[in-house]
Amino acid sequence: MASEIKELPKGYTDTPVIPGQTWRVHDIERPSPPVVTPATGSTQVAAGRPPSDAVVLFDGSNLDAWESVRDGGVAPWKLVAGGAVEIAPRTGNIRTKQHFGTCQLHVEWRAPTEIHADSQGRGNSGVFLMGHYEVQVLDGYDNPTYADGLTASIYGQYPPLANASVPPGHWHTFDIVFESPVYEGGAIASPATLTVFHNGVLAHLRQPIQGPTKHRALASYDEEHGPEGPLVLQDHGDPVQFRNIWIRRLERMQAL
Ligand code: MG
Repeated sequence: MASEIKELPKGYTDTPVIPGQTWRVHDIERPSPPVVTPATGSTQVAAGRPPSDAVVLFDGSNLDAWESVRDGGVAPWKLVAGGAVEIAPRTGNIRTKQHFGTCQLHVEWRAPTEIHADSQGRGNSGVFLMGHYEVQVLDGYDNPTYADGLTASIYGQYPPLANASVPPGHWHTFDIVFESPVYEGGAIASPATLTVFHNGVLAHLRQPIQGPTKHRALASYDEEHGPEGPLVLQDHGDPVQFRNIWIRRLERMQAL
């Protein structure tokens, strides 16, 4: 039996205006956000589903959203069981055909169980936002290496706040919020930032980045680039697998 629903106010017109905004506190006229069907979680055996408003970059069926960085042709990595794609070592990096700036990104990956090297030679790959800013993919499970090159590090700049690695062969998740840098008059006005959850554990909290990723060198914003770029996955010679890759375009966070 349906019980009677008590109707309550849907907002107010007599409350103070929020500083820096045009809206009143609990403003009845303020638009509601869009409705999104949420993502479903993945398990070790099956990938979950992206949220309804995501740009799906890889769902296991094809690499149509991607191309070879080397020659702009078909992405040369191979589809494998479990709705995954595996790096074909030494075929080069792949990038999305679409370009993105500030975004929310979800990526799942796993390192090979066969181990031939240690440190940076174990399950090395990388997720490059805008093709420039690397969140490190590495088999960091019981594998000592330099801290700013560990799994989920902002490579060469900031170690993750924790090492949440799982053993080789297990799927990892990266949930990333990236803010693209802002240039004004050729100089950096606002650096890129990264927030990263690695397997649900916070690795970076709105960390300002010092510039595009470098190996054994300092990063800088000396070379200006546009407000968007492709997402790039790195071929570092190891057959790392990826699955369930999706992205949502966002606006840069507003200042208080
Ligand atoms: Mg890497």
